Amino acid sequence: MAELLPYAVSADSSRGRRFPEPFPAYRSEFQRDRDRIVHSTAFRRLEYKTQVFVNHEGDHFRTRLTHTLEVAQIARGIARALGLNEDLAEAISLAHDLGHTPFGHAGQDALNECMRDYGGFEHNLQSLRIVDKLEQRYASFDGLNLCFETREGILKHCSVATAGRLGDLGERFINRTQPSLEAQICNLADEIAYNNHDIDDGLRSGLLSFDQLKEVSLFERNWASVRDAYGAIDERRLVHETVRRMINALVCDLIDMTTSNISRCLPQTLDDVRQAGVLVGFSDEMDDAQQEMKRFLRKNLYQHHEVLRMTRKAQRIVADLFAAFLDDPRMLPPAYRSGDNQPRRVADYIAGMTDRYAMKEHRRLFAVGEI
Ligand code: MG
Repeated sequence: MAELLPYAVSADSSRGRRFPEPFPAYRSEFQRDRDRIVHSTAFRRLEYKTQVFVNHEGDHFRTRLTHTLEVAQIARGIARALGLNEDLAEAISLAHDLGHTPFGHAGQDALNECMRDYGGFEHNLQSLRIVDKLEQRYASFDGLNLCFETREGILKHCSVATAGRLGDLGERFINRTQPSLEAQICNLADEIAYNNHDIDDGLRSGLLSFDQLKEVSLFERNWASVRDAYGAIDERRLVHETVRRMINALVCDLIDMTTSNISRCLPQTLDDVRQAGVLVGFSDEMDDAQQEMKRFLRKNLYQHHEVLRMTRKAQRIVADLFAAFLDDPRMLPPAYRSGDNQPRRVADYIAGMTDRYAMKEHRRLFAVGEI
Protein backbone atom coordinates (compact mmCIF):
# COMPACT_ATOMS: atom_id res chain seq x y z
CA MET A 1 0.00 0.00 0.00
CA ALA A 2 1.18 3.54 -0.75
CA GLU A 3 2.25 5.80 2.13
CA LEU A 4 -0.74 6.76 4.25
CA LEU A 5 -1.48 10.36 5.09
CA PRO A 6 -1.07 11.28 8.78
CA TYR A 7 -4.82 11.56 9.35
CA ALA A 8 -5.59 8.16 7.81
CA VAL A 9 -6.23 5.20 10.10
CA SER A 10 -3.06 3.15 10.45
CA ALA A 11 -2.63 -0.16 12.22
CA ASP A 12 -0.32 1.67 14.67
CA SER A 13 -3.00 4.17 15.60
CA SER A 14 -5.71 1.50 15.97
CA ARG A 15 -7.56 1.31 19.24
CA GLY A 16 -7.15 -2.43 18.92
CA ARG A 17 -9.30 -5.50 19.38
CA ARG A 18 -11.53 -6.34 22.32
CA PHE A 19 -9.45 -9.47 22.94
CA PRO A 20 -5.77 -8.72 22.33
CA GLU A 21 -4.08 -10.90 19.71
CA PRO A 22 -0.52 -11.05 18.38
CA PHE A 23 0.17 -8.91 15.31
CA PRO A 24 -0.45 -10.94 12.11
CA ALA A 25 2.47 -12.05 9.96
CA TYR A 26 2.51 -10.71 6.36
CA ARG A 27 -0.84 -8.91 6.72
CA SER A 28 -2.01 -5.67 8.23
CA GLU A 29 -4.54 -5.72 11.05
CA PHE A 30 -7.21 -4.50 8.64
CA GLN A 31 -6.36 -7.12 6.03
CA ARG A 32 -6.90 -9.66 8.79
CA ASP A 33 -10.30 -8.12 9.55
CA ARG A 34 -11.22 -8.31 5.87
CA ASP A 35 -10.17 -11.97 5.72
CA ARG A 36 -12.22 -12.83 8.80
CA ILE A 37 -15.29 -11.17 7.29
CA VAL A 38 -14.92 -12.99 3.97
CA HIS A 39 -14.63 -16.33 5.78
CA SER A 40 -17.69 -15.73 7.96
CA THR A 41 -20.98 -17.60 7.54
CA ALA A 42 -22.95 -14.35 7.46
CA PHE A 43 -20.89 -13.19 4.46
CA ARG A 44 -21.67 -16.31 2.45
CA ARG A 45 -25.37 -15.93 3.15
CA LEU A 46 -25.35 -12.52 1.43
CA GLU A 47 -25.40 -14.41 -1.85
CA TYR A 48 -29.00 -15.44 -1.26
CA LYS A 49 -30.34 -12.30 0.32
CA THR A 50 -32.37 -9.74 -1.56
CA GLN A 51 -31.07 -6.33 -2.48
CA VAL A 52 -34.21 -5.11 -4.30
CA PHE A 53 -35.11 -8.10 -6.44
CA VAL A 54 -35.66 -11.41 -4.70
CA ASN A 55 -32.92 -13.85 -5.56
CA HIS A 56 -35.07 -16.22 -7.60
CA GLU A 57 -36.47 -13.42 -9.79
CA GLY A 58 -33.49 -13.62 -12.14
CA ASP A 59 -29.82 -14.51 -12.33
CA HIS A 60 -28.61 -11.09 -13.45
CA PHE A 61 -29.91 -8.88 -10.65
CA ARG A 62 -27.79 -7.73 -7.75
CA THR A 63 -27.89 -9.68 -4.55
CA ARG A 64 -26.57 -8.42 -1.22
CA LEU A 65 -23.30 -10.13 -2.06
CA THR A 66 -22.70 -8.51 -5.43
CA HIS A 67 -23.90 -5.17 -4.01
CA THR A 68 -21.36 -5.57 -1.21
CA LEU A 69 -18.55 -6.29 -3.68
CA GLU A 70 -19.45 -3.18 -5.70
CA VAL A 71 -19.39 -1.07 -2.53
CA ALA A 72 -15.98 -2.47 -1.60
CA GLN A 73 -14.59 -1.77 -5.06
CA ILE A 74 -15.84 1.83 -5.08
CA ALA A 75 -14.69 2.49 -1.50
CA ARG A 76 -11.21 1.09 -2.16
CA GLY A 77 -10.78 3.26 -5.23
CA ILE A 78 -11.75 6.40 -3.34
CA ALA A 79 -9.62 5.54 -0.29
CA ARG A 80 -6.57 4.92 -2.45
CA ALA A 81 -6.99 8.16 -4.39
CA LEU A 82 -7.21 10.11 -1.13
CA GLY A 83 -4.16 8.46 0.48
CA LEU A 84 -6.30 6.70 3.08
CA ASN A 85 -6.35 3.15 4.38
CA GLU A 86 -7.68 1.01 1.54
CA ASP A 87 -7.64 -2.20 3.60
CA LEU A 88 -9.85 -0.65 6.27
CA ALA A 89 -12.27 0.76 3.67
CA GLU A 90 -12.50 -2.70 2.13
CA ALA A 91 -13.10 -4.44 5.47
CA ILE A 92 -15.87 -2.03 6.49
CA SER A 93 -17.55 -2.29 3.07
CA LEU A 94 -17.53 -6.07 3.06
CA ALA A 95 -19.17 -6.14 6.50
CA HIS A 96 -21.60 -3.24 6.08
CA ASP A 97 -24.67 -5.31 5.15
CA LEU A 98 -24.02 -8.51 7.13
CA GLY A 99 -26.96 -7.82 9.44
CA HIS A 100 -29.59 -7.56 6.74
CA THR A 101 -32.61 -9.80 7.06
CA PRO A 102 -33.98 -11.87 4.19
CA PHE A 103 -36.07 -9.83 1.69
CA GLY A 104 -34.17 -6.55 2.06
CA HIS A 105 -35.79 -3.56 3.72
CA ALA A 106 -39.22 -5.20 3.75
CA GLY A 107 -37.80 -7.97 5.96
CA GLN A 108 -36.07 -5.51 8.26
CA ASP A 109 -39.21 -3.38 8.69
CA ALA A 110 -41.28 -6.45 9.47
CA LEU A 111 -38.77 -7.77 11.99
CA ASN A 112 -38.49 -4.34 13.59
CA GLU A 113 -42.26 -4.28 13.96
CA CYS A 114 -42.24 -7.76 15.53
CA MET A 115 -39.52 -6.64 17.96
CA ARG A 116 -41.25 -3.37 18.88
CA ASP A 117 -41.79 -4.39 22.51
CA TYR A 118 -38.39 -6.05 22.78
CA GLY A 119 -35.94 -3.34 21.79
CA GLY A 120 -36.57 -3.24 18.02
CA PHE A 121 -34.46 -4.56 15.17
CA GLU A 122 -32.02 -2.54 13.10
CA HIS A 123 -29.75 -4.11 10.47
CA ASN A 124 -26.87 -1.82 11.33
CA LEU A 125 -26.79 -2.95 14.95
CA GLN A 126 -27.32 -6.51 13.80
CA SER A 127 -24.19 -6.32 11.60
CA LEU A 128 -22.26 -5.34 14.71
CA ARG A 129 -23.92 -8.10 16.74
CA ILE A 130 -22.80 -10.63 14.12
CA VAL A 131 -19.15 -9.57 14.12
CA ASP A 132 -19.07 -9.11 17.92
CA LYS A 133 -21.07 -12.10 19.06
CA LEU A 134 -23.01 -14.33 16.70
CA GLU A 135 -20.22 -15.73 14.52
CA GLN A 136 -18.73 -18.61 16.48
CA ARG A 137 -15.54 -19.70 14.79
CA TYR A 138 -12.72 -18.93 17.20
CA ALA A 139 -11.60 -20.88 20.23
CA SER A 140 -11.08 -17.98 22.60
CA PHE A 141 -13.81 -15.48 21.80
CA ASP A 142 -17.28 -15.07 20.30
CA GLY A 143 -17.58 -13.04 17.09
CA LEU A 144 -14.70 -12.10 14.82
CA ASN A 145 -12.84 -9.85 17.29
CA LEU A 146 -12.42 -7.08 14.71
CA CYS A 147 -10.46 -3.86 15.28
CA PHE A 148 -12.24 -0.89 16.82
CA GLU A 149 -12.04 1.11 13.57
CA THR A 150 -13.71 -1.63 11.53
CA ARG A 151 -16.51 -1.99 14.09
CA GLU A 152 -16.88 1.79 14.22
CA GLY A 153 -17.31 1.89 10.45
CA ILE A 154 -19.93 -0.86 10.52
CA LEU A 155 -22.02 1.11 13.03
CA LYS A 156 -23.08 3.90 10.68
CA HIS A 157 -25.84 5.28 12.82
CA CYS A 158 -27.42 4.59 16.16
CA SER A 159 -29.69 6.34 18.64
CA VAL A 160 -28.20 8.07 21.67
CA ALA A 161 -30.08 5.67 23.95
CA THR A 162 -28.51 2.65 22.22
CA ALA A 163 -25.12 4.36 22.05
CA GLY A 164 -25.06 4.55 25.84
CA ARG A 165 -25.05 0.74 25.96
CA LEU A 166 -22.25 0.32 23.43
CA GLY A 167 -19.30 1.60 25.46
CA ASP A 168 -16.44 3.20 23.52
CA LEU A 169 -18.14 2.43 20.21
CA GLY A 170 -21.17 4.51 21.13
CA GLU A 171 -19.21 7.54 22.35
CA ARG A 172 -19.22 9.39 19.05
CA PHE A 173 -23.01 9.39 18.84
CA ILE A 174 -23.16 10.97 22.29
CA ASN A 175 -20.26 13.41 21.73
CA ARG A 176 -21.34 14.08 18.15
CA THR A 177 -17.91 13.43 16.68
CA GLN A 178 -17.18 11.77 13.33
CA PRO A 179 -15.79 8.36 12.44
CA SER A 180 -12.62 7.94 10.35
CA LEU A 181 -12.55 9.18 6.77
CA GLU A 182 -12.42 5.54 5.67
CA ALA A 183 -15.79 4.93 7.40
CA GLN A 184 -17.25 8.08 5.87
CA ILE A 185 -16.17 6.87 2.42
CA CYS A 186 -17.91 3.50 2.83
CA ASN A 187 -21.14 5.26 3.68
CA LEU A 188 -21.19 7.14 0.39
CA ALA A 189 -19.74 4.27 -1.63
CA ASP A 190 -22.83 2.33 -0.52
CA GLU A 191 -25.10 5.06 -1.89
CA ILE A 192 -23.19 5.36 -5.15
CA ALA A 193 -23.38 1.60 -5.64
CA TYR A 194 -27.07 1.08 -4.93
CA ASN A 195 -28.40 4.13 -6.75
CA ASN A 196 -26.59 3.11 -9.90
CA HIS A 197 -27.15 -0.61 -9.79
CA ASP A 198 -30.82 -0.13 -8.96
CA ILE A 199 -31.18 1.92 -12.13
CA ASP A 200 -29.41 -0.81 -14.08
CA ASP A 201 -31.52 -3.59 -12.50
CA GLY A 202 -34.67 -1.48 -12.84
CA LEU A 203 -34.12 -1.14 -16.59
CA ARG A 204 -33.19 -4.78 -17.00
CA SER A 205 -36.35 -5.91 -15.21
CA GLY A 206 -38.53 -3.64 -17.31
CA LEU A 207 -39.89 -1.90 -14.19
CA LEU A 208 -38.13 1.32 -15.23
CA SER A 209 -37.99 2.79 -18.75
CA PHE A 210 -35.57 5.12 -20.54
CA ASP A 211 -38.34 7.64 -20.93
CA GLN A 212 -38.93 7.81 -17.19
CA LEU A 213 -35.23 8.06 -16.46
CA LYS A 214 -34.86 11.17 -18.57
CA GLU A 215 -36.28 13.11 -15.63
CA VAL A 216 -33.15 12.18 -13.64
CA SER A 217 -30.64 14.85 -14.64
CA LEU A 218 -27.50 12.80 -13.97
CA PHE A 219 -28.85 9.97 -16.10
CA GLU A 220 -30.07 12.27 -18.84
CA ARG A 221 -26.73 14.08 -19.09
CA ASN A 222 -24.65 10.94 -19.31
CA TRP A 223 -27.10 9.13 -21.56
CA ALA A 224 -26.96 12.07 -24.01
CA SER A 225 -23.16 12.03 -23.98
CA VAL A 226 -23.14 8.32 -24.88
CA ARG A 227 -25.64 8.93 -27.68
CA ASP A 228 -23.53 11.81 -28.98
CA ALA A 229 -20.38 9.72 -28.97
CA TYR A 230 -21.77 6.45 -30.35
CA GLY A 231 -25.12 7.13 -32.02
CA ALA A 232 -27.69 4.36 -31.93
CA ILE A 233 -26.02 1.46 -30.15
CA ASP A 234 -27.46 -1.67 -28.59
CA GLU A 235 -29.64 -0.81 -25.61
CA ARG A 236 -27.77 -2.89 -23.02
CA ARG A 237 -24.48 -1.25 -24.04
CA LEU A 238 -26.15 2.12 -23.84
CA VAL A 239 -27.27 1.40 -20.26
CA HIS A 240 -23.84 0.17 -19.18
CA GLU A 241 -22.04 3.12 -20.78
CA THR A 242 -24.43 5.51 -19.07
CA VAL A 243 -24.26 3.88 -15.65
CA ARG A 244 -20.49 3.62 -15.66
CA ARG A 245 -20.23 7.31 -16.55
CA MET A 246 -22.58 8.15 -13.71
CA ILE A 247 -20.54 6.14 -11.20
CA ASN A 248 -17.35 7.77 -12.46
CA ALA A 249 -18.87 11.26 -12.22
CA LEU A 250 -20.02 10.65 -8.63
CA VAL A 251 -16.69 9.13 -7.56
CA CYS A 252 -14.60 11.90 -9.15
CA ASP A 253 -16.80 14.61 -7.66
CA LEU A 254 -16.54 12.98 -4.24
CA ILE A 255 -12.75 12.76 -4.41
CA ASP A 256 -12.42 16.40 -5.58
CA MET A 257 -14.82 17.77 -2.99
CA THR A 258 -13.30 15.74 -0.15
CA THR A 259 -9.81 16.89 -1.15
CA SER A 260 -11.00 20.48 -1.01
CA ASN A 261 -12.72 19.94 2.39
CA ILE A 262 -9.53 18.42 3.76
CA SER A 263 -7.37 21.28 2.48
CA ARG A 264 -9.71 23.79 4.10
CA CYS A 265 -9.77 22.04 7.45
CA LEU A 266 -6.17 20.73 7.42
CA PRO A 267 -6.48 17.80 9.81
CA GLN A 268 -3.07 16.67 11.12
CA THR A 269 -4.20 13.56 12.94
CA LEU A 270 -7.03 11.05 13.04
CA ASP A 271 -8.25 12.83 16.12
CA ASP A 272 -8.58 16.07 14.13
CA VAL A 273 -10.74 14.15 11.64
CA ARG A 274 -12.99 12.93 14.44
CA GLN A 275 -13.41 16.47 15.76
CA ALA A 276 -14.05 18.08 12.35
CA GLY A 277 -17.47 18.00 10.67
CA VAL A 278 -18.18 15.46 7.92
CA LEU A 279 -15.31 15.81 5.44
CA VAL A 280 -16.23 13.19 2.85
CA GLY A 281 -18.97 14.44 0.59
CA PHE A 282 -20.18 15.59 -2.82
CA SER A 283 -20.32 19.11 -4.19
CA ASP A 284 -23.71 20.80 -3.65
CA GLU A 285 -24.56 20.29 -7.29
CA MET A 286 -23.74 16.57 -7.25
CA ASP A 287 -25.49 16.15 -3.93
CA ASP A 288 -28.68 17.54 -5.50
CA ALA A 289 -28.30 15.19 -8.46
CA GLN A 290 -27.80 12.23 -6.14
CA GLN A 291 -30.87 13.17 -4.05
CA GLU A 292 -32.93 13.51 -7.22
CA MET A 293 -31.89 10.02 -8.25
CA LYS A 294 -32.86 8.64 -4.83
CA ARG A 295 -36.29 10.28 -4.96
CA PHE A 296 -36.84 8.88 -8.43
CA LEU A 297 -35.96 5.34 -7.34
CA ARG A 298 -38.14 5.52 -4.24
CA LYS A 299 -41.13 6.62 -6.26
CA ASN A 300 -40.71 4.52 -9.37
CA LEU A 301 -38.85 1.37 -8.35
CA TYR A 302 -39.15 0.70 -4.60
CA GLN A 303 -42.86 1.61 -4.72
CA HIS A 304 -43.51 -0.18 -8.02
CA HIS A 305 -46.56 -2.42 -7.65
CA GLU A 306 -44.61 -5.54 -8.58
CA VAL A 307 -41.94 -4.77 -5.99
CA LEU A 308 -44.63 -3.98 -3.40
CA ARG A 309 -46.27 -7.34 -3.95
CA MET A 310 -43.06 -9.06 -2.97
CA THR A 311 -42.62 -6.61 -0.11
CA ARG A 312 -45.98 -7.53 1.38
CA LYS A 313 -45.34 -11.23 0.95
CA ALA A 314 -41.96 -10.87 2.65
CA GLN A 315 -43.50 -9.01 5.55
CA ARG A 316 -46.03 -11.80 6.02
CA ILE A 317 -43.37 -14.50 5.97
CA VAL A 318 -41.21 -12.73 8.56
CA ALA A 319 -44.16 -11.90 10.83
CA ASP A 320 -45.51 -15.47 10.66
CA LEU A 321 -42.12 -16.99 11.45
CA PHE A 322 -41.56 -14.64 14.37
CA ALA A 323 -44.96 -15.30 15.90
CA ALA A 324 -44.65 -19.07 15.52
CA PHE A 325 -41.16 -19.30 17.02
CA LEU A 326 -41.93 -16.97 19.89
CA ASP A 327 -45.11 -18.87 20.63
CA ASP A 328 -43.23 -22.15 20.85
CA PRO A 329 -39.44 -21.75 21.09
CA ARG A 330 -39.08 -25.53 21.19
CA MET A 331 -39.39 -25.41 17.39
CA LEU A 332 -36.13 -23.45 17.18
CA PRO A 333 -32.76 -25.13 16.75
CA PRO A 334 -31.34 -25.61 20.28
CA ALA A 335 -28.68 -22.92 19.88
CA TYR A 336 -31.43 -20.31 19.48
CA ARG A 337 -33.43 -21.24 22.55
CA SER A 338 -32.77 -18.93 25.41
CA GLY A 339 -34.40 -18.41 28.76
CA ASP A 340 -33.48 -14.77 29.24
CA ASN A 341 -34.05 -13.02 25.93
CA GLN A 342 -36.00 -15.32 23.65
CA PRO A 343 -37.39 -12.60 21.32
CA ARG A 344 -33.85 -11.44 20.48
CA ARG A 345 -32.77 -15.00 19.73
CA VAL A 346 -35.77 -15.47 17.45
CA ALA A 347 -34.81 -12.23 15.68
CA ASP A 348 -31.21 -13.49 15.34
CA TYR A 349 -32.47 -16.71 13.81
CA ILE A 350 -34.78 -15.02 11.33
CA ALA A 351 -32.32 -12.25 10.44
CA GLY A 352 -29.69 -14.85 9.61
CA MET A 353 -31.93 -16.60 7.08
CA THR A 354 -31.48 -16.28 3.35
CA ASP A 355 -34.61 -15.52 1.29
CA ARG A 356 -35.01 -19.08 0.16
CA TYR A 357 -34.42 -20.53 3.63
CA ALA A 358 -37.08 -18.21 5.09
CA MET A 359 -39.56 -19.33 2.41
CA LYS A 360 -38.71 -22.97 3.09
CA GLU A 361 -39.11 -22.55 6.86
CA HIS A 362 -42.44 -20.84 6.25
CA ARG A 363 -43.63 -23.75 4.14
CA ARG A 364 -42.41 -26.26 6.71
CA LEU A 365 -44.28 -24.51 9.50
CA PHE A 366 -47.47 -23.53 7.74
CA ALA A 367 -48.10 -25.65 4.63
CA VAL A 368 -50.09 -28.77 5.23
CA GLY A 369 -48.32 -31.73 3.69
CA GLU A 370 -44.79 -30.24 3.99
CA ILE A 371 -42.24 -31.49 6.50
MG1 MG B 1 -25.47 -1.53 1.43
